[in-house]
Amino acid sequence: MLLNKVNYDKSVKYRNMQKEPKKQLLVFKWLTKIVSDITLRKRLKIEKINMDGVKAPYFLVSNHMGFVDLEINALCAYPARVSHIATLEGHYRRSLLMELDGCIGKRKFTTDPHLIPACEKVLNKFGAVLTMYPEARYSPIGTTAILPESLGQLIKRLKHDVVVLVHHGNYLYTPFWDWRRKRDVPLYSTMTRVLTKRDVEEKTPEEIQKIITDALWYDEYKYQEEHGIIIKEPYRAEGLHKVLYQCPICKTEFKMYTEGAILGCSECGHKWELTENGKLQALDGETVFSHPPTWYEWQRENVRDEIKRGKYFFADEVDVYSLPNTNKFIDIGKAKLTHSMETGFLIEGHYNGEDYKISRPVAGMYGVHIEYDYCYIRPEECVQISTMDDTFICYPSKKNQVTKLSLATEELYKIKQETKRIRRQARLEKREENE
Ligand SMILES: [Zn+2]
Repeated sequence: MLLNKVNYDKSVKYRNMQKEPKKQLLVFKWLTKIVSDITLRKRLKIEKINMDGVKAPYFLVSNHMGFVDLEINALCAYPARVSHIATLEGHYRRSLLMELDGCIGKRKFTTDPHLIPACEKVLNKFGAVLTMYPEARYSPIGTTAILPESLGQLIKRLKHDVVVLVHHGNYLYTPFWDWRRKRDVPLYSTMTRVLTKRDVEEKTPEEIQKIITDALWYDEYKYQEEHGIIIKEPYRAEGLHKVLYQCPICKTEFKMYTEGAILGCSECGHKWELTENGKLQALDGETVFSHPPTWYEWQRENVRDEIKRGKYFFADEVDVYSLPNTNKFIDIGKAKLTHSMETGFLIEGHYNGEDYKISRPVAGMYGVHIEYDYCYIRPEECVQISTMDDTFICYPSKKNQVTKLSLATEELYKIKQETKRIRRQARLEKREENE
């Protein structure tokens, strides 16, 4: 039995995660500028706040709602060179191009010790703008996703100005759950220097973390309401059931569906319209949640409650594809995926004559990457579990499950952290009593 390894043929080489970053080629900088100018000029407005005198190198932290964010970030940083900390799956089949564009490859939701020296090189040696998307994936419901607790420490270590770029409209323009179809929505980004080099020196990592967390706050549906944005596309709700998977009327999970502008529950028959101004409105009877992110957070509370009652457990047969390097996804067949407080994520399978087990305990994962329509392998929903050397893309056989898996990962982690804190506190108190 192999642990956190798969019995690949000798021809399969792992990606070297210690690769030094390359300086972005000027041609890529200009190309990105030209393409972004042409595609976004009419749609995008950028507002710069407290940016007087800010020059590269600096650390640019941005929210993440769609691919368009990369173009906007490069536009905002222009004329400086940029280096994006980018997921390794994004390097698939274009690794060299990504490297020449200055990207640093990282596996998601892993603690990579090579990341800090790579970031230091970009800032201190290349004098470039280092961009990072700490949410580490596209926002499922247009609100800020969970951020890594280590962000404050990373900033403290890098010792540079910090600029926060908050995009608005990008989720409404191409929602994660229906990213192939665009809606006619204006894009608006604010670029704010939130910390000077001196602030970074003087503040604690916790204070820095709080400043970044507050600055990255966003809610796309509030933004839609405040700016009177009307989305008329007749298909505007299609895909929303992947995120809002539990019916607030009959509480049934995974029986939601969407059609046109309608979100419905096939269990109790309740229906809501996603109105042109981004509100949910029941066609008949009680609406319960008119603001989609409130519905989403209600589901989170239910998952949390399930965990606390000791009832949370996920098991399914999944199709697994792995990505040891960026050349190709390897079909490693079927496996059993389980998720619980006791084991965290566990993939158990058999490949090339040998059993394997991939384990990611709860304490090491504050979030998980999910996709609703993953274009690189099969356009269906999947969950991606990474180790330091490999990434495993798991396609569940049960449908509409991945949003709950994502919420459960976040809540399991939080509960684990809280339990640890309480235990530590109790130990301290006991020690004081004894003294
Ligand atoms: Zn229902």
